[in-house]
Amino acid sequence: MEKLSSEELMQLEDRHGAHNYHPLPVVLSKGEGVYVWDVEGKRYYDFLSAYSAVNQGHCHPKIVKALTDQAQTLTLTSRAFYNDTLGVYEKFVTEYFGFDKVLPMNTGAEAVETAIKIARKWGYEKKGVAENQAQIIVCEQNFHGRTTTIVSFSSDTDASTNFGPFTPGFIKVPYNDLAALEEALKQPNVIGFLVEPIQGEAGVFVPDENYLAGARTLCTAANALFIADEVQTGIARTGSLLAVCGNCSCENKCEKQSTFVQPDILILGKAISGGVYPVSAVLANDEIMMVIHPGQHGSTFGGNPLAAKVAMAALEVVSDEQLSQNARKLGNLFRSEMNRIIASTDLITKVRGKGLLNAIIVNDTPDSKTAWNLCVAMKENGLLAKPTHGNIIRFAPPLVMTEEQLMECVAIIEKTINEYQK
Ligand SMILES: *Cc1c(COP(=O)(O)O)cnc(C)c1O
Repeated sequence: MEKLSSEELMQLEDRHGAHNYHPLPVVLSKGEGVYVWDVEGKRYYDFLSAYSAVNQGHCHPKIVKALTDQAQTLTLTSRAFYNDTLGVYEKFVTEYFGFDKVLPMNTGAEAVETAIKIARKWGYEKKGVAENQAQIIVCEQNFHGRTTTIVSFSSDTDASTNFGPFTPGFIKVPYNDLAALEEALKQPNVIGFLVEPIQGEAGVFVPDENYLAGARTLCTAANALFIADEVQTGIARTGSLLAVCGNCSCENKCEKQSTFVQPDILILGKAISGGVYPVSAVLANDEIMMVIHPGQHGSTFGGNPLAAKVAMAALEVVSDEQLSQNARKLGNLFRSEMNRIIASTDLITKVRGKGLLNAIIVNDTPDSKTAWNLCVAMKENGLLAKPTHGNIIRFAPPLVMTEEQLMECVAIIEKTINEYQK
């Protein structure tokens, strides 16, 4: 095959692909650890990690080996038959996260859909809600994926406009507002509360310290399921195995889980495979998960042998390499360095986040081009990040980063900001 230039490859996508994304103008052809290279051979720090799917770093050798070994042995059986990896994975992943059962799917949106179906079925069969009346509370500015049902309760008009008619059965409340949640839980037929422990796509909104624990308490009192969408925040990203683990960096295995908020349904995706293969999972205990019987839900590829082996390797890397602890340590350093830079510039007003899921707020309107232009300038200086919601830039590097590499990235960000003002 002839070697195409970045310019030619971008034109191919533009001409032949649907225009459902607006990528930064960089064409990548290789990745290793915290780095990616473009087709011309220029190296960049990846500060997006494929929206936090590549927490373990690009092409992690242990995960890639699990993929290639299994790919030469058995890739797909469907669930019409048993295979020799699924049960092993199910035992591994349920023990890893502390639930009775897992339902394996492929993408984050599918896992959210699955959680909604399980919660509704639980509502009718265990809580006794009348047929077709179940309501699930969701948050404003949420991001849970792109399916028709999920965009039905999105606040983002780009995500929803002209995609109706919409799926009913959702009540929207402001994020980080326990009083609003308490009020909504009083409405009839509420069966659950679906929430991101930190709102990632919305611009890395970290709720108040007591929000998740308070929501858990309110849900328990109302006999509503607490459904945590940790597709982006989970798997060590925010400095603990799960964001609902709060300030505990024990990998969810210590005795004193004082800050741990136990979800009834846990939704995982993205980094559960280290970005190597599409894998998602819904975890719950028996009293909830066992409402699903054969024929009531499924996926041809869900839980296939490749996915099972890849996910086990990816989760082992998270523990073996202490990625939660590293994310916590480097996250604290990153925010303090950003605050130092913010003190000396008018261009950036704020940094917020947890672990290595952070965002800076650019001092301009959400419809301005400043954040985009800054990202293009950072790209020129060797660091890739992407704006979210106009004037916000998310920073989420792979968690295998070293302190020295992080400080080099801080220098790139600082240099770009200083150059931009001139
Ligand atoms: C990315 C994301 C999803 C959707 O995952 P896909 O694999 O893109 O379908 C769902 N919820 C959250 C919080 C996400 O960040």
